Amino acid sequence: MPRAITIDGKAIASQVKAGIARRVKALNDKGFDVRLDAILVTDDKNTAAHVYAKNQKRSCNQLGIDYVLHELKGSSTYEDIAGRVLLLNKNIEAHAIMLHMPLPEGVDPFRVQSLIDPEKDVEGVNPANIGNIVYARSSLAPCTAMAAVKLINSTGIDLKGKRCVVVGASNIVGKPIAVMLMKPEATVISCNKYTENLPELASSADVVVAAAGVPHLVKKSWIKPGAIVIDVGIHRMPLDEPKPDGTKMRTVGDVDEEVAEVAGHLTPVPGGVGPVTVAMLLENVVTAAELHHQ
Ligand code: NAD
Repeated sequence: MPRAITIDGKAIASQVKAGIARRVKALNDKGFDVRLDAILVTDDKNTAAHVYAKNQKRSCNQLGIDYVLHELKGSSTYEDIAGRVLLLNKNIEAHAIMLHMPLPEGVDPFRVQSLIDPEKDVEGVNPANIGNIVYARSSLAPCTAMAAVKLINSTGIDLKGKRCVVVGASNIVGKPIAVMLMKPEATVISCNKYTENLPELASSADVVVAAAGVPHLVKKSWIKPGAIVIDVGIHRMPLDEPKPDGTKMRTVGDVDEEVAEVAGHLTPVPGGVGPVTVAMLLENVVTAAELHHQ
C-alpha cells in the first residue's frame, strides 16, 4: 500500500530558523538588536502559556533574539493591558510585540490586538495585517496561516487553478489560509461547521487544509488519491493503554491517521504545522526588526 510522503515540519522549521539567524546577524553587524516583547497576563506560574513563553525565550535566544516577558497580574483590566501595549508601541527599543492567550475573562482579545502597532504585530492579528492579506501585501501575516501555506509550497505544487478545500474558517487560522491560497490563483473553497457535503467537497480537492479543531474529522474516504493534506489541528487525547514509560496521552490532529494511505503528502501531528508556526513567528520578529531599522 503506497503511503503519503510526510512533510517534515521540523526540518522546514530548522531551515527557516537558519535563515532567521543569518538575518539577525546581519542586523547585529549594523549595530541593531533584535527583540521580542511578549505580554502574559496571569498569576498562575504553571499555565500552558508559561511553558510556551519559556520555550519561546529559549528559541529566541538560540537565534540571537532578545526576549522580554511582561507579566501582568491576572486581575488586569482591559485598560491595564491596553496601556502596556501602547507603551510598547511608543518604545523605540521594542519592535516586535505579541500577546499570550488567554486574556482574563471579559477582556476581548480583538480590542487589544487592534491596538498593537501593525508594524510591530508579529502574530499578524491586527486588522490592518489581516486586511493586507487580501492585497497580498501583508509582511506580517498570522503565523499558523503562513505555516500552512509554506508547508503546501514545500511540496513544489503550482497552485494556479488547483482546488483547495479549507476546513475551518476562524479569523486567525482558516480564513487567512483561504485568502492566502487565492494569491497564487488557486480555486479555494472555505468550509465551516455548517457546510453541507463536506466529504464530497474535500474529495474533489488537490489540497485539503484541516483547521476545524475536531480530532480525526477528515477521513480517508474524503481524500482524492495523491492530494496534499495539511493538518493544523492539535488535540491531547488519552491513550487506550498507557505506554511502558508511563505516557498516558498522545497528540492528534484533525486528520485521521488512515488518510496517509491515500494522500500524496501529509503533515504529521506533532511535527508538522506546529514547529513551522513557531518559526514563522520568529521570522515575523526579524522582519519587524528590519522594517524598524530600515
Ligand atoms: P476555531 O474553533 O476558532 O474555529 C474552528 C472553525 O472550524 C470554525 O470556522 C468552525 O465553523 C469550523 N468547524 C468546526 N467543526 C467543524 C466541522 N465538523 N466541519 C467543518 N468545519 C468545522 O479554531 P481555530 O483557532 O481556527 O483552530 C483550529 C484548530 O487548529 C484547533 O485544533 C487548534 O488547536 C489548531 N491550531 C493549531 C495551531 C498550530 O500552530 N498548529 C495554531 C492555531 C490553532
